[in-house]
Amino acid sequence: MRVVKAVILSLIMCFAAVAARSAEIPALVSISLNPQSVVAGNSVQGTVMLSTEAPFDIKVSLAADPAQGIKLPASVTVPAGALTASFVVTTPVSKAAVGGSDASVTVYGNYQVTRKASFKILAPVSFDEMVDRVVARERAFNATMKRMHPLVETYIQNLHEDKEHNVMPVSDQYFLGRLDMTKGPGDELFEKDHPGFAHHFFNPFSGVFSRRFMPQGFAQMVMLDANFQKQNYYFNFVRQEFLGDVRCIVLDVQPREHAPGGLFTGRIWVEDRDFNIVRFNGTYSSHSRYRYYLHFDSWRLNMQPGVWLPAYIYSEESDARRSTPPFRSLYFKAQTRLWGYDVEHIRHNQEFTQVEVDQVKDQSEAASEAGPVEAERMWERLAEDNALDHLQNIGLLAPSGDVDRILQTVVNNLIITNKLDIVPEVRCRVLLTSPLESFTIGHTIVVSRGLLDVLPDEPSLAMVLAHELSHIALDHRINTKFAFNDRFFFPDQDTFQRVEFVRSPEDEAAADAKAMQLLANSPYKNKLATAGLFLKALQARAPELRNLITPHLGNSLETGKAIRMFALENSAPQLEPQRIDQIAALPLGARIKVDPWSNQVELMHARPVALLSPHEKMPFEVTPFFPDLTRLSSPVQGETVAAK
Ligand SMILES: [Zn+2]
Repeated sequence: MRVVKAVILSLIMCFAAVAARSAEIPALVSISLNPQSVVAGNSVQGTVMLSTEAPFDIKVSLAADPAQGIKLPASVTVPAGALTASFVVTTPVSKAAVGGSDASVTVYGNYQVTRKASFKILAPVSFDEMVDRVVARERAFNATMKRMHPLVETYIQNLHEDKEHNVMPVSDQYFLGRLDMTKGPGDELFEKDHPGFAHHFFNPFSGVFSRRFMPQGFAQMVMLDANFQKQNYYFNFVRQEFLGDVRCIVLDVQPREHAPGGLFTGRIWVEDRDFNIVRFNGTYSSHSRYRYYLHFDSWRLNMQPGVWLPAYIYSEESDARRSTPPFRSLYFKAQTRLWGYDVEHIRHNQEFTQVEVDQVKDQSEAASEAGPVEAERMWERLAEDNALDHLQNIGLLAPSGDVDRILQTVVNNLIITNKLDIVPEVRCRVLLTSPLESFTIGHTIVVSRGLLDVLPDEPSLAMVLAHELSHIALDHRINTKFAFNDRFFFPDQDTFQRVEFVRSPEDEAAADAKAMQLLANSPYKNKLATAGLFLKALQARAPELRNLITPHLGNSLETGKAIRMFALENSAPQLEPQRIDQIAALPLGARIKVDPWSNQVELMHARPVALLSPHEKMPFEVTPFFPDLTRLSSPVQGETVAAK
């Protein structure tokens, strides 16, 4: 009996073991594809799923029908312990953007059993349909721009060509404002209130032209046509082209003869996923009220999923045919930059940080109370933080980031080698504007984007920072009125009239002298020839580029005959504009890249280029933009489907 029981028991256990083992052997239960439709040239993610976790690596074989042009792996392995594995199916690139019809593709997977799933390769849309979508997206863009209030900065250099065809800037103009297109294009200017401004403003463009031309004219160039209508234009396919990582359809756009509404004439680049215009290059046609207009190249960046917003506009006018007055002097280059789109987030970030700081302070009861000296220091730091917060909130100061840390490293080199003892610690920040300036707010050194752009090397950066560090070391204080928050409750266009960090000539001279000492003790002491050269180049161009060297908030690098840190010029070689291996100053936009959505700054990673002629040195000059376009990380559920 006992034996029988044992046999039965072992049989049962045997069955149980078999049952358990058969349950452990997985089979393929599904294959899924995402997205389920794509424009040819894009890829689809596939996922295989087993009935149960793989007890060992399981290879699921794959195939596609029709197989022509489709790329997928022969198999995908579900690793031991996993339930699913993913693979990528790539569809063939379409030769042209237009024509064709939808095609269905089935993907098969096999392990124990065969499962399948299908996706659709969308027909490249018909030309007519594409134009409809471009026009619809652009009209949506125009509506979006009315809600956006980025800062807009335009810097213009008027040029003169001599008999040897050397083109040199002879004067410049500068505008900074906040874009407001709610009542059509226009902008509110940030300006220092100084006499003769209106005269300055319109020079050298005389008469009625100038009024159309600035600053509304530059703001206008963010829009292709405020009332973009398909029936007003001819659209002609040119080619497909990549701008950075983004594949674009290039179209020529011209107003129709008998449609007076057509405004723009030129070329547009349309990204081929959602059909947003990402670049347009041309001018406003003679049909428009802008009868004589400049030529411009307007670029948009992908700042939010599916949203492309204006970031850079390069414009120039050099048409020799328009040589009759008042257009004789119409020969210039200009850069317009837009930034500070994400106003809400830039501000919220700031408030959040403040809350955190408060909490930390509340909890530190172990620390003893602040005595009068410490209280005074804290009061000054509060004034400093308030001023910085305000400048960041209105979009003039970049949030703290990597570039600050690079500046910080140079400052630390100066502090350590000079054995300076500074409390609280020195910080560095970047002002987002072009004019060349640096200043201190308490123990924070602020350097403008434009100045960082044109400095040729690290020793010349050390020169700028040494001057500012000297103000701190010499205890040139911040005005503590900024410790009261209500000092900043004024409209942001008043900023340049209410906030100033200008030093007296005596303090400036003292800071220069101290900076020479700091540099003499620093690792930069034998490398300051380029810093002196930079000052010489600045002095040489200063009479023509008055607006570039006029600071918003601090002291000018050059005032009349005096230039900051002039003692360094003595150790510098002669300035030789014709020598291509002598780089005294770089063009604007040479170093710093601004994220126009978040205002974060980073160093540009431009490919090094050997200069071929002295014309390519372009010290302090404006150049065209060629941003490297990329899409925000591709949405998983195809935006393409939504667009269809
Ligand atoms: Zn100074």
